[in-house]
Amino acid sequence: MINQTIANPEAPCIGQTFTRTKRLPPQQMRYRKKLLIERYGYCCFWCSCDLTPLTITIDHYIPLSKGGSNELKNLRLACLPCNQRRGDSLPT
Ligand SMILES: [Zn+2]
Repeated sequence: MINQTIANPEAPCIGQTFTRTKRLPPQQMRYRKKLLIERYGYCCFWCSCDLTPLTITIDHYIPLSKGGSNELKNLRLACLPCNQRRGDSLPT
């Protein structure tokens, strides 16, 4: 018996019209994360703390809800507390 259940909580909503940039599929975010780690190393962009594969997150420098993009130039590596603290706010 084959279990084909795929857990994908970030699956984009099909059929909805978005005027802003959508979140990328998880596999594309993983690829960007790999490129960011090669560029910046395991270091939080905001607080410079050391990150691990378990604590690393991708932060949008300009949030998607504020017109930011999913391009590498708008992505930064951040620890979870920094990412959550920023939320949807613009960089200051
Ligand atoms: Zn941080």
